Amino acid sequence: MTKICIIGAGPSGLAQLRAFEQAENSGSEIPEIVCYEKQENWGGLWNFSWRTGTDQAGDTVHNSMYRYLWSNGPKEGLEFADYTFQEHFGKSIASYPPREVLFDYIQGRIKKTNVREKIEFNTLVRDVKYIEDRNVFAVTTRNGKTDSEKTVEFDNVIVASGHFSTPNVPYYEGFEIFNGRILHAHDFRDAREFSDMDILVLGTSYSAEDITSQCWKYGCRSVTVAHRTAPMGFGWPENIKEVPALVKVNERTAFFKDGSSAEFDAIILCTGYKHHFPFLPDDLRLKTANRLACNDLYKGVVWNNNPKLFYLGMQDQWYTFNMFDAQAWYVRDVLMGQIQLPDQKTMDRDPVIRQENEDALEDDYACIRYQGAYVQELINETDYENFNIDAANEAFFQWKKAKKKNIMTFRDQGGLISPMDESTSPAHHTEWKDELDDSMASYMKN
Ligand code: FAD
Ligand code: NAP
Repeated sequence: MTKICIIGAGPSGLAQLRAFEQAENSGSEIPEIVCYEKQENWGGLWNFSWRTGTDQAGDTVHNSMYRYLWSNGPKEGLEFADYTFQEHFGKSIASYPPREVLFDYIQGRIKKTNVREKIEFNTLVRDVKYIEDRNVFAVTTRNGKTDSEKTVEFDNVIVASGHFSTPNVPYYEGFEIFNGRILHAHDFRDAREFSDMDILVLGTSYSAEDITSQCWKYGCRSVTVAHRTAPMGFGWPENIKEVPALVKVNERTAFFKDGSSAEFDAIILCTGYKHHFPFLPDDLRLKTANRLACNDLYKGVVWNNNPKLFYLGMQDQWYTFNMFDAQAWYVRDVLMGQIQLPDQKTMDRDPVIRQENEDALEDDYACIRYQGAYVQELINETDYENFNIDAANEAFFQWKKAKKKNIMTFRDQGGLISPMDESTSPAHHTEWKDELDDSMASYMKN
């Protein structure tokens, strides 16, 4: 029997387990599957950890999420087609749930199955080798609890280890003599740490936007955001401002490209993440920028240099959970012989064409449509439940417009339509800026 290894039990790895489970329930014989997960529980980034640096086994902490994190995109854009929010919570809920609520939702459909038995927790994948003469992968893992290592052979490997965990940490002149704290967003855990402080944020993407908003909400004195390329341009509250690129710092003062300077208590580097797979050799390792069409992956999932290896969720993400599903169903059908891969030339050309098309996109609205079309393309080839991609795109458009109108109130918006069951989301009972309790119990109160 074919033997398959899945690396990681975050939303992508769980989508893969769910895809096989669905095939089994429909009467198909499925391969033998082992999923290795280095953490004690599933859920990936959604499984919050207070730890930073190294974990209890001495390995790097995977988590990049923080307390009080609410979804930064509308839930209507990530809903599972085969398990709606309405089905899970028994009612319509507001559109930007806190982390704990989404973690509960992710677990909901998988808890109803026996797939937990296929996951080996506390098990870090340390090394993967392809053994040419026998066409198998040798996967070496270490169990952090027993501190023991083993190597098991598999016919296929599916890498679902995420790509928002290894921070991209730039150096600026003077960092070594700055007298406040310098940290990357990956190690940011609690905005209250920065109350009454003047904060400098570097970067202009989602981490910068959200950590700035969090620090403001939980009482910092001011935030200054320095941009390398272009400002975010939101209408910020009066104690948040955007300035040109950072040039250097000294003990307390930061100097910017326009000649201005200011004193800060802390610097938060919201400078993105690296695709990092220390367990893979060069010839199996994905090397790509954080973009919608990754290098070297046919259909965004098949490793062109050895199509027995697959990657899930490696794209930059507007769509998330349902895109991981679409990918997982596709990979399942390749592995079960339902989908035939084309010749090598066609496979190699595929990511090149996707990237050319991505490069021609003019704005975020076009990017959202592009990723929606990709999800649709994969769904068309499998039996994953079709859903209304136009409605999901529309939810993202509404979200973008609400953010442009007011970055501090966009999460208060109701009235978004589920692309799965057409239910309408209510507005949350309390405005985001006033809701300091992010627990599920508080969120679910009507
Ligand atoms: P991950 O969630 O990263 O899971 C990967 C899993 O692989 C982890 O459990 C990890 O422990 C395991 N793993 C890694 N290496 C190994 C190894 N060597 N051996 C064994 N196991 C390993 N998306 C949204 O839709 N909405 C949001 O609001 C949102 N907020 C976000 C906030 C932050 C701060 C970040 C960083 C991302 C956010 N995302 C959000 C995007 C997020 O990437 C996805 O929602 C999702 O978590 C990706 O799932 P994944 O399974 O691909 O990766
Ligand atoms: P990202 O989208 O890759 O953005 C990286 C940012 O870092 C860019 O603005 C980039 O600027 C900047 N940058 C890189 N190198 C730099 C340097 N040397 N100096 C200055 N700036 C530099 O990464 P991200 O913002 O961390 O987002 C990652 C993921 O986390 C996204 O999927 C996002 O949705 C998610 N997220 C979600 C939430 C939430 O749900 N609440 C919160 C945070 C993050 P340039 O434009 O100049 O390249």
